Amino acid sequence: MSASNTDNSDLESEYEALLSFMYLSPVGIIRSDKSGFVDMMNPLAAQLLMPLVRGGDIENIFDSLSSVAPELRNLVASFESERGPVCENHRVFVTPAKDDAVVLSCSIIKVSADVLMMVLTDISRQVAAERRTRQTESWLAGIYTSVNDFAFFTLDAQGCVDSWNPSVEHLTGFGEAEVVGRMLSRFYANDEIVLHRWPEHIALTRDEGWHVEEFWCETKGGRRFWGQVLVAVLREEEGGISGYSVVLRDVTERKVHSDNLARLLTTDHLTGVTNRAHFFEVAESEVARAERNSRALSLVMLDADHFKHINDTAGHQAGDEVLKRIADEAKALLRRSDIVARLGGEEFVLLLPSTTAGEAMLVAERLRAAVERALIDTVVGQLNATISLGVASLGNANPTLQTLLAAADHALYDAKQAGRNCVRCSIAESEYVALSASEEGNTSQT
Ligand code: GH3
Ligand code: MG
Ligand code: MG
Repeated sequence: MSASNTDNSDLESEYEALLSFMYLSPVGIIRSDKSGFVDMMNPLAAQLLMPLVRGGDIENIFDSLSSVAPELRNLVASFESERGPVCENHRVFVTPAKDDAVVLSCSIIKVSADVLMMVLTDISRQVAAERRTRQTESWLAGIYTSVNDFAFFTLDAQGCVDSWNPSVEHLTGFGEAEVVGRMLSRFYANDEIVLHRWPEHIALTRDEGWHVEEFWCETKGGRRFWGQVLVAVLREEEGGISGYSVVLRDVTERKVHSDNLARLLTTDHLTGVTNRAHFFEVAESEVARAERNSRALSLVMLDADHFKHINDTAGHQAGDEVLKRIADEAKALLRRSDIVARLGGEEFVLLLPSTTAGEAMLVAERLRAAVERALIDTVVGQLNATISLGVASLGNANPTLQTLLAAADHALYDAKQAGRNCVRCSIAESEYVALSASEEGNTSQT
């Protein structure tokens, strides 16, 4: 008797434990017979099934689920073994499949000939996430395969390409094997200074989260294009940098437009040399650079002689031809780092970086002689013209662009006063001679 009492109380406490497990369980649990009549159900199961039964009792689980999962009854009916899993993680769409659908995962285990255990879990969030991922993937697939002037790929933390997709080949012509494991410089055109640019680009990306650069790229087939490269940091969950995502874009057309626009904004329409506004911008930074590096810098101001007379006798159009020729002679004579600008009317300026007063005098004299020699083709036949020039150099006497310009202008005035078609320097003759002791040219000096 006492043994059986103990057995009973053991059974009872086991049953209570089972009930409390069911009650607290984070999944819905239902026990029924094999035709679906429920004899036990935890509160979570009731809550999950609520939308289907609308407050009514759940007597038969297959009836309750018949509108959304009629197949369950058949699954169980056709399950012949005495015990075992009838279905696992079978998806039941409680509300229609869309973003906020309620979706249950249903597993049915036959525990004996006439007892079924059903486990229900709410997987709505998981299903929504899967759906979003699928959507993103199909968007990306669409972009990868149908967009021609963008390429998307990723880099590992060391900056080597570690993923490839068809968009890369569309834009650059490179296949997977030609790209993966390589640095971004794979896409640079040969004349880009790769070594300096790339580490800097990555450093800025690390600092700012993302960074955009533009440079000339070259496709496998040798086509040059102006590439815009956006690199963004990819972070691990712990916050470390796991790599970078890259969008490479062909923006050649925009580059050509903006170059044309820049040219329009910075050049003089008649002569094609730098215009006045742009000259002041460039000159300020050249003066600052020369000072920073303790480098020489000289300025030559020049003005056509008796230009009014040319206009008056040969016409305005011929005058324009003369101005163009003066600009052409200057361009032909100067280095790439020099700047020729038209300040206005028949007045030009040459900005000569890393050039001493003595060297600038030589340049000025060469230009003077070239213009004097030139037979200028105009609508009224060939013409001759001369120019007067004034030279000034950056230094104690002329420490700023303004003083430099004023000094060169003053020297130009001196040249006009001296009879035109000559060069004058703003510094005193004795200083200039000392500066250019080794330079014996046919320059005239003040
Ligand atoms: P100087 O030797 O003292 O410099 O005499 P100049 O005649 O050259 O100087 P002035 O300043 O008296 O005359 C300059 C002339 O240049 C007057 C102006 O009509 C003309 N001019 C200014 N801009 C242009 C232009 O774009 N095209 C033409 N053809 N003439 C211009
Ligand atoms: Mg003049
Ligand atoms: Mg003038």
